[in-house]
Amino acid sequence: MTVRIDGKALADDIVEKVALDVAAFKRDQKVTPGLAVVLVGEDPASAVYVRNKVKRANQAGLNSTEHYLAKDTSQEELDKLISQLNQDDSVHGILVQLPLPKHLDESHVIEAISPAKDVDGFHPQNVGNLVTGQKSLIPCTPLGCMIMLNREIDDLSGKNAVVIGRSNIVGKPMASLLLQANCTVTTVHSKTQGIESICRNADILVAAVGQALLVKKEWVKPGAVIIDVGINSVEVEGKRRLLGDVDYDQVSSIAGAITPVPGGVGPMTIACLMQNTLTAAQHQLGV
Ligand code: NDP
Repeated sequence: MTVRIDGKALADDIVEKVALDVAAFKRDQKVTPGLAVVLVGEDPASAVYVRNKVKRANQAGLNSTEHYLAKDTSQEELDKLISQLNQDDSVHGILVQLPLPKHLDESHVIEAISPAKDVDGFHPQNVGNLVTGQKSLIPCTPLGCMIMLNREIDDLSGKNAVVIGRSNIVGKPMASLLLQANCTVTTVHSKTQGIESICRNADILVAAVGQALLVKKEWVKPGAVIIDVGINSVEVEGKRRLLGDVDYDQVSSIAGAITPVPGGVGPMTIACLMQNTLTAAQHQLGV
């Protein structure tokens, strides 16, 4: 029997737990953890993500503030806002929604955010801490994937894990977390030879590619746990549909457990952002 990992239900549980912890934090510290979300431009997908993040922040009892900037906002204007948010004691987490319009420098923006408030976990200081196994804010998507894996698999130690994709926001931190959990980790990417046979060896397969239905049944070891990070908006029979990187219909017939798209990794990413905001507030107040 293949388990369908319900990311939505698990995310609801996480947000409920964060809400309880936020209430206790408010009571004890007399401070409400604050999340500032910055959106530059009018990318429709980004606008939906920001709306969902704000909704979840409200459910978790966080104080969320949104900053909507025009698409022609200059680097200096964005830097100034980030600097203000860095200095604002009521803001414990800062999230600048990516991607940014082309004229803005993403790496510069990531480095401008105070590492203590970097709830996306993208700042080089947090990346370094993650890789060296020190206390760090962990990128939300891989953190959500690890929570799901830890619930499905009693002991990750010694498992063969394959991560498809090597981006800074998903693939690389995912591989670091799996390595820390004592998995034997292989990262594959667009230049990898023989990707199918490498994936077929995986007890854990994480797909973070951005190509709809890339992973087929033949790529998967029977009983493997499959985490599908991909979100691809594809037109099917005249209608827009969200598809993962994994061919769910095929792969679910042999996987041990699998995340659906939508309703898998996506909701977990947002729930982990709430957790990270609380964690950042706790660190900043020395709790
Ligand atoms: P990137 O485009 O930054 O990275 C994609 C990676 O996939 C690259 O490392 C690339 O290799 C690799 N790749 C591309 N084609 C192939 C192929 N045919 N075979 C093997 N590897 C390949 O994407 P992201 O990591 O940002 O995102 C990946 C997917 O996850 C997207 O669909 C995105 O929308 C989704 N996503 C979902 C989130 C969620 O909350 N569920 C959050 C973040 C992302 P190379 O490095 O060689 O180019």
